[in-house]
Amino acid sequence: MESFLNVERMRLVGGNLALDFLNSRAGPPEGPPDDDALTGSPALIAWSAYAGALDQTEAAALRRTAERDPQAAGDAFARALRTRDHLDDLFRALAAGRDPSADALARLRDDEADALAHARLDREGAFAWTWREDRTLDRPVRQVVHAAVELLTTGTLDRIKGCGGCRFLFYDESKNRSRRWCSMDDCGTTEKIRRYVAARRTRTAR
Ligand SMILES: [Zn+2]
Repeated sequence: MESFLNVERMRLVGGNLALDFLNSRAGPPEGPPDDDALTGSPALIAWSAYAGALDQTEAAALRRTAERDPQAAGDAFARALRTRDHLDDLFRALAAGRDPSADALARLRDDEADALAHARLDREGAFAWTWREDRTLDRPVRQVVHAAVELLTTGTLDRIKGCGGCRFLFYDESKNRSRRWCSMDDCGTTEKIRRYVAARRTRTAR
């Protein structure tokens, strides 16, 4: 599939790896997405490196693995897209103030069990889960799954929001929880222009 989105120019505005992963699709706030930056296994690996989940050496090694076994790469990519769909439902429910389904949470638990089975506890100040030893093509999505669980278990849930102008989700870290847009440069500006035009129309009508 062709995409007009460039995986290495995506706006990382989610404030969390899992939310940024969901933001790899673009479109209006409601209804189906209309573009997808993840066009295949190479795009997924490029996105992971861009989002900081892989360093350049790890990304290059993963690309070679994918080239050696396109079938396995395709399967891992399909799993990543399915996980993205599930996480999308789950976080979109939360952003709308609804509880995710029991099925969605059970699936996330299974995905997290798989992710942790391939992780290692490394000392980074405190100990943290890392996937440095995971050389498999599922590593990118495992890191995303773990970020999703961390957000659910340690985040403030009503800070998980959807942009008013597009389908992007983000974690609102503003002091008074007043963030409404994925980015002031995009949807925020569009809204400012819309209000300006509406105000001018009202003035002209008087
Ligand atoms: Zn937006």
